[in-house]
Amino acid sequence: MKKQLKLAFTCLAFVSFIFLSACSKQADESKKITEVLLQGNTMGTTYHVKIVATKQQVADKNIHADIDDLLKKINQQMSTYISDSELSRFNKNPTTEPVKISEGLREVIAESIRLGKLSGGKLDITVGPLVNLWGFGPDLRPDKIPSAEVEAAARKRIGLDKLSLNGNMLRKAIPDLYVDLSTTAKGYGVDKVADLIEAQGFKNYLVEIGGEMRLKGFKHTGELWAVAIEKPVSQERSVQDIILPKDNAIATSGDYRNYFEVDGQRFSHIIDPDTGKPINHKLVSVTVIAPLSMTADGLSTTLMVMGEAKGLAFANQHDIAALFISKSEHGFVQESTVKFVPYFK
Ligand code: FAD
Repeated sequence: MKKQLKLAFTCLAFVSFIFLSACSKQADESKKITEVLLQGNTMGTTYHVKIVATKQQVADKNIHADIDDLLKKINQQMSTYISDSELSRFNKNPTTEPVKISEGLREVIAESIRLGKLSGGKLDITVGPLVNLWGFGPDLRPDKIPSAEVEAAARKRIGLDKLSLNGNMLRKAIPDLYVDLSTTAKGYGVDKVADLIEAQGFKNYLVEIGGEMRLKGFKHTGELWAVAIEKPVSQERSVQDIILPKDNAIATSGDYRNYFEVDGQRFSHIIDPDTGKPINHKLVSVTVIAPLSMTADGLSTTLMVMGEAKGLAFANQHDIAALFISKSEHGFVQESTVKFVPYFK
């Protein structure tokens, strides 16, 4: 009997040792500095956040839930895919009287209008009726090119001159003006998540929403965050270049993900307000590095609309860190502004 008891005790001791060492291993794990990954869905795409901390520190601050709540709030302010969002209600409201808007919506519209004026209207957040007409908005995608009449009718509804912001009062000059913030609101979401993380005292992080990113400090290995610029091909995911953006935001706009082809011609979701049609030039991808993600997001679309020559001249004139990839008969040609050069790995 004594022998069995002894055996039982040894087993118990062994099992509890295993259990305790597993617990202590788990405890050690949660106290080790690592890159804590938080991810989820937002704005019709995904988000990934990496915070250099211990799992315990991140869990204690309840950051994941706060990020989800923040992105839900921004979605409810700025999505044209949610029928009762603040922006959708503004778009549906036929009044041409000034309407009071939230601080978040004011911030994004103010920056979008600023970039619109800077670019001579190439970035134009009232271009939504054309975006939707060509099938890149919340409505279903038509399988054919819109008729000239339908396109001309949509073009009558666009133009930054028909939208005015005065403090937090927004006014449309025509009842059926329609604002589309797809080019800057995702970047705004990145900036607000980055601000939330910093407010919680974390200084080393990466925030990414649908490809728009903002980085700060270092990875848990002490190295700078490295970002791969994607080769602008639609059939595969491969690397064009590696860059070190340091404490900045980085945004890429391109015509190789969101497009359709008719008779071998590509029609992408980037619309040139001057022609009323999707861009049709050799520039296929632009990457911009700037302190704020909302600005980088808007500028990358702006430069895509301008095309390679005008875009490069505009970016150099305005001291923008930009990388341009164009297609040629010999493959892709890459050009960057002087400001972008220090970021190559
Ligand atoms: P970018 O180059 O950053 O932006 C291109 C977009 O800007 C185009 O898709 C068009 O909408 C607009 N645009 C085109 N030309 C111009 C121009 N000349 N001037 C100004 N704007 C122009 N997608 C879904 O499928 N489902 C969703 O539920 C959904 N919800 C969203 C909620 C929010 C708040 C936002 C901002 C977007 C949402 N989207 C959704 C859209 C999706 O995220 C877009 O495809 C994405 O925002 C486009 O970003 P991009 O980086 O691909 O292209």
